[in-house]
This record gives sequence, C-alpha cells and structure tokens, in this order.
Amino acid sequence: MRPFVFDSHTHSQYSPDADTDLREMCEYAIAHGIDGFCVTDHCDCNHDRPEQEARMAACRQEVQQLREEYRGRLLLCYGMELAQQNFDPAIVARIYGSFEGDFMIGSMHRADNQPDFSVIDFSTIEFEPLLEKYYHELLETAQINKLDILAHITYPLRYAGAERLAGMDLHKYDDITDEIFRTLIQNGKGIEINVSGLRQPYGKPFPTGEYLKRFHDLGGEIVTIGSDAHFPQHVGANFADGVAILKAAGFDHYCYFVERKPRYVDI
Ligand SMILES: [Zn+2]
Ligand SMILES: [Zn+2]
Repeated sequence: MRPFVFDSHTHSQYSPDADTDLREMCEYAIAHGIDGFCVTDHCDCNHDRPEQEARMAACRQEVQQLREEYRGRLLLCYGMELAQQNFDPAIVARIYGSFEGDFMIGSMHRADNQPDFSVIDFSTIEFEPLLEKYYHELLETAQINKLDILAHITYPLRYAGAERLAGMDLHKYDDITDEIFRTLIQNGKGIEINVSGLRQPYGKPFPTGEYLKRFHDLGGEIVTIGSDAHFPQHVGANFADGVAILKAAGFDHYCYFVERKPRYVDI
C-alpha cells in the first residue's frame, strides 16, 4: 500500500513571493494522487508590516473555506512559515501568540541583517562568514522554540554555487548542527526534509540524508516532507524521493501536522 501523501510546505498567492491560486493547487493535488497539503505562507519577523498579518488572515479564511469544500477528497491544512524569529521577539510573540492553525514552520532566510541569501551577490560579499552566522541564528531560532519544525536547514547552500560548494568543508558546522538538533529534540520539535533542492540545480534536499540520519541517531522523531512549492505543479513534487531518503536515514515514518499535533505515517 502506498503511504498517505502529505506535502507540509507550500506557498500560495498570500505569500509575497508567490502568485498561486489556492484552488488550482487543490485541483492539481487531487489530479496527481496527493492526499493533502499544508499552506505555509511567509510571515517575516525582520520587519513589522501590518499588511502581512492581513494577508495571513485572508489566507486562513480561504483555506478554511476550501478545506470544507474538498473534505473527503483532500486534506487541506493552514500553516505559516514564520521566518527570522530572532530579529524581533515582540513580533514573534504577537503573531505566534495569536496563531490558530495546523502547523507552524520556523525558518531562516537571511543572517547578520543582510538581505535574503537568494538575492545577495556573493561576488561582493563573502559567503562563508555569513553561512557561519546563519547557523548561529538558526540555533537561536530553535531556542526561541516558536515552531513545530525548523525548515530547510542548510538553505544558504542553494545560493553558494557549485564551484564554491565543492571547495567547502561543511563538516565544520556539524557541532552546531548537533546543538540545533538536540535543542529541537529536547523541546519535542522536528525538522523537515525540504525536497525543493532536488528539482533545482543544487540537486540535493535541505538538509541531506546524512543530516537526517544524524537527527534520527540523536533521537529525533518528527520529520515533515515539504516541496516548498511556489507554483501549483510543484505541490507534492519529489515526494517519493523524500520518503526514500528518510527511509535510508533510518526512519520508518514521516509526519504531518493537524491542529499542531504530529500524525505519523508509516513508510
Ligand atoms: Zn523558507
Ligand atoms: Zn517556504
């Protein structure tokens, strides 16, 4: 029997960086054997913009409406990707404190007050010192503990470029990665395998199987699978690859969240 297919990380038109109609995402999912997905639009804590909270409220309302409409055919959940939590505790407290949804992702797209890794020109800014800062701020995010899972660990590597990556010793970040994992595990929280890298030139998930195995060996149990779709046709993308990598890392299940509680799916 094939496992229940649930994509825990997707973006819709309520994200500033996506233009994806929610209903189109639902129709695509049903047509492609996807059993459910969670809409986890961006909410950034490094700036205080009232319109982003209005966007999240509108997203929640549409998800609730479509969840009822598609009940029995698709499990549609409402979540949020609350990023850069270490920038402003007051914003985190307000947004997290009033969050009523299924799933809360914590993530980090920038470090050291620099722009998002995706827009930095690394011919003018040094990559590795910023990567080091990223790991420290990721640990802070784990310690802040306003999340169900910490998303796409090693995200900056997507923007390093193949040549720079080949010359880097990523194992020097193993100790701090362990500290991040231990913090999450102690708090009963998880990580995700973000499979977006598999469909991009980077070619690997965030994080790789090696680090998923390390999370497992340290006692981690909660791992969600996320496509990080910003287009309908990426909902559920590379899901089977994610399952295979988790199995190889020692897991006999993956998780998704409903009403902030993990559900375990045998794989
Ligand atoms: Zn993200
Ligand atoms: Zn995302």
